[in-house]
Amino acid sequence: MSLNAVSTRLPPWLIKKIHRNEVSLGTKEILKSLDLNTVCESARCPNMWECFSKRRATFMILGNICTRNCAFCSVKKGLPSHVKKSEPSNITEAVGRLNLKHVVITSVTRDDLKDGGASQFARTVYELKKEYSDVVVEVLTPDFRGNADCIKIVAESGPDIFNHNIETVNKLYKRVRPQADYYRSLNLLKFIKDNYPAIYTKSGLMVGLGENRDELEAALDDLITHSCDILTIGQYLSPSRTNIPVAEYVHPDEFKRLEKVAFEKGFLYVMSGPFVRSSYNADQVFNKKCDKEEV
Ligand code: SF4
Repeated sequence: MSLNAVSTRLPPWLIKKIHRNEVSLGTKEILKSLDLNTVCESARCPNMWECFSKRRATFMILGNICTRNCAFCSVKKGLPSHVKKSEPSNITEAVGRLNLKHVVITSVTRDDLKDGGASQFARTVYELKKEYSDVVVEVLTPDFRGNADCIKIVAESGPDIFNHNIETVNKLYKRVRPQADYYRSLNLLKFIKDNYPAIYTKSGLMVGLGENRDELEAALDDLITHSCDILTIGQYLSPSRTNIPVAEYVHPDEFKRLEKVAFEKGFLYVMSGPFVRSSYNADQVFNKKCDKEEV
């Protein structure tokens, strides 16, 4: 896998049908009416219309401006907005209106806040569980700079799944996630499993950023030794011209191979494919993991 940018022309397996219809527009309208941000929109996710057409979305709390500068991400950077008190109840309202059974809550990184936004995560999880006790809640958090007190606040609010993406291999961190640390992210997953064994841990990797096979397999090994249960692997697609370019379009056969390798390494469940994202079909990923556990 080379570090050079590839042609901007997409290979055939990355041409996606747009699901712009009444349902997807209705989902967008519900989110807008409740003044909610989604990572689907802010990160220009290629699956947005597909997910919206299934009445699915990933809520992004703590505003839509991030304090970090990750090279792969198109979420706005700069001075973040104030924390909205209404956010947890508005998300709860949206979950009811969209009839969601599996809710994914993520956030921008808020290094400006003393608790990194942990208490807003916790308030959202509490409210959701109070109103819909049978809903599966997945948090997809930043690293909280490795602050155990912040991580505990989120974990003790009662999520079913604690998702934190390592995003890429160790070698590329300086270029792709300059303010993050590979081992800090891995240690967060291990901290969750060591202290809250009932919570499932989940992480995600992007390929096509310039990593090679050995580096990827080393990342899979590191995730396993840091107690990651569930893994997603997807193709990095540069969301704008100011983001890091794609180094390689990985063939679907390679995604299948990686999925097999990851299962062999011991993950409870793996979803790997060009359009797989950390929250893509999160309900299916979770349910299939449960089926596997029962076998
Ligand atoms: S894959 Fe996740 S982020 Fe992308 S549109 Fe679907 S729910 Fe949103």
